[in-house]
Amino acid sequence: MLGLMQSQPLLISGLIEFAERHHGDAEIVSRRVEGDLHRYNYKDMGQRARRVAKALDGLKLAFGDRVATLAWNGYRHLELYYGVSGSGRVLHTINPRLHPDQIAWIANHAEDQVLCFDLSFLPLVQAVHARCPTIKHYIALCGADKLPADSGVPNLQSYESWIGAQSADYAWPSFDENTASSMCYTSGTTGNPKAALYSHRSSTLHAYAAALPDVMCISARDAILPVVPMFHVNAWGIPYSAALTGAKLVFPGPALDGKSIYELIEAEKVTYAAGVPTVWQMLLTHMKPAGLKFSTLKRTVIGGSACPPAMIHAFREDYGVEVLHAWGMTEMSPLGTLCTLKNKHDALPEAEKMKIRLKQGRAIYGVDMKIVDAHGDELPWDGKVFGDLHVKGPWIVREYFKGEGGDPLVGGWFPTGDVGTIDPDGYLQITDRSKDVIKSGGEWISSIDIENIAVAHPAVAMAACIGVAHPKWDERPIIAVVKKPGMEVTRDELIRFYDGKTAKWQIPDDVVFVDAIPLGATGKMLKTRLRELLKDYKLPQP
Ligand code: AMP
Repeated sequence: MLGLMQSQPLLISGLIEFAERHHGDAEIVSRRVEGDLHRYNYKDMGQRARRVAKALDGLKLAFGDRVATLAWNGYRHLELYYGVSGSGRVLHTINPRLHPDQIAWIANHAEDQVLCFDLSFLPLVQAVHARCPTIKHYIALCGADKLPADSGVPNLQSYESWIGAQSADYAWPSFDENTASSMCYTSGTTGNPKAALYSHRSSTLHAYAAALPDVMCISARDAILPVVPMFHVNAWGIPYSAALTGAKLVFPGPALDGKSIYELIEAEKVTYAAGVPTVWQMLLTHMKPAGLKFSTLKRTVIGGSACPPAMIHAFREDYGVEVLHAWGMTEMSPLGTLCTLKNKHDALPEAEKMKIRLKQGRAIYGVDMKIVDAHGDELPWDGKVFGDLHVKGPWIVREYFKGEGGDPLVGGWFPTGDVGTIDPDGYLQITDRSKDVIKSGGEWISSIDIENIAVAHPAVAMAACIGVAHPKWDERPIIAVVKKPGMEVTRDELIRFYDGKTAKWQIPDDVVFVDAIPLGATGKMLKTRLRELLKDYKLPQP
C-alpha cells in the first residue's frame, strides 16, 4: 500500500521560492570584483535568477545543457546557481586555479555551452576559448560599462545587459527530482579529472542535512560567510542551506586575505564562517599581532584538509569561536562527517573533549560509513585500527559523468581513498589518503598526526610528512617544513619537539626545510609533487 502524502519533487527552485516567500528581506551582501560591497535580499535574488532562466531560454539552451562558471563567491554567481539549475540546465562550476589545459579539457568533456566569468578571469578565458569549441556564448559577470573592448573573446556580452533584457515573469518548471542540477570535477592526482554530477534531490537532501544542529547548525538568526569557494563542491552546499533556512549570506568575492575577511566579518556581523585551514591561517596571522577580537563570530566550520589542533585551540581559547571540524569530498556533495560533542561528553575534562574535537566527527544522517581491511572485510570501531574508508548514501556518487573511470563502487559502497579509524561512539579520524600513508616495519604511520605535531611548533608555518624508501623498514617518515617568516628552528630541535608527543618509532627520521609546499587547485598539499621535488633526497645514515 502506498502512502497518501503529496508527491512533490525536491527541486532547487523550491529553495529559492521558499526563501523569497518566507525570508524575502534577509540580506545577501557581496564584495564585488569591482571592490565595492553590493547588498540586496532573497526577493531580489529570486527575481534576477528568473531573468537568468529566461535569458538561457533566449539562447535556446536545451534542458540538461551545461552552463559553466569561472567565478568568485558573489551574488551573480548565486543567481546562476538558481537560474541555471532551476530551469533544468546543469551548472558546471570550474575551479579557476586549475591549469588552463585542464580547464579546456574539462569544458570540452562537460560540453559546456555557455561560460559565465568574473572579469578577474578574463586572461584565463582569453587563453582557453579557442580550445573550447562547444562554448557558444561568453558572459562577463559585470555591467555593460565594464565590458572590455577588443577582448578577443567571441560572442561576449555583459551579464547585466544579458539578464536586463529579460522580464522576471517566469514560472520555474517542474520535473523529476533525479534530474542533474550541477557538476564539479574532482582534483584527482592521477588520470583525467572525473565529474561528480549532483541531482536536485541529492542537493536538496544534502542542504537539509547540512543545516541540522549537529551539522552546520544554520538558522535564520545566522549571518554566514562562506569563504569556501562556490567553484568547488557548491561551497559545501551553503548557498542551498542558507536559502532553506533564510540565513543572511555574506560573500567575500576575490578578497580572501586576512584583513579583508576580518573586516567583512565585523562589518556584516557574521556569526558563522566556513573555510579551509589555509584561509583561517591567514586570518589568524592578521589578527594576532594587532590584538584584534571578534564581536559576533560564534562558529566556524573547517574542512577540506585536516584542521591542525593549534588552530582549533587558537579559535577557542583566544577568540571564543567554536570550531566544527568537517570531513567530506567532491563525490559526497561534500559533507560526510562533522565533529560536535555528545551530551555524555559534557562531564569530560577539557583535554579529553579536545581530543574528540580534533577528530573529523560523526556521520551525518544520510551517510553510512565503514572501514575495511585489504580484503574488504569490515574492521572494528575501536578508535585504533586503521582501514580504508567506504561510504554510501543518497548524496554520494554512484558513477562519474559519462561513466569515466568505470564502476567506482565496491559492493554498493564508494571507496573514498581515505584511511581512518572510527571509535566506539562513531567518531571518524582521518589518518591519511591511502596513497600517502607511511608503512614502516609493517605498521602504519599517520602523516596527518606527524604534521599536526610539527605545526604546533611556534616557528613552523606549514609541514608535510612523506615516506621515503628504507632498506630495513620499507619506509620511514620525513617532514618537509616551511618556517614562519623571521622565525628559526633547527632540524634537531624539531626532532626533539616530537619527544613524548608520539611513539618513538613514528618520529620522523629527518627534517627538510623548504621555501614552500606545493599546493593543488583546492588548496591541499600536493604530496605527489613534493615527492618529485625530493626525489634525490637520501635519508641520513644512522
Ligand atoms: P575534494 O574532493 O577536493 O574536496 O577532496 C576531498 C579530500 O580532502 C578527502 O577525501 C580527504 O582526503 C580530504 N579532506 C577533506 N576534509 C578533510 C579533513 N577534515 N581532514 C582530513 N582530510 C580531509
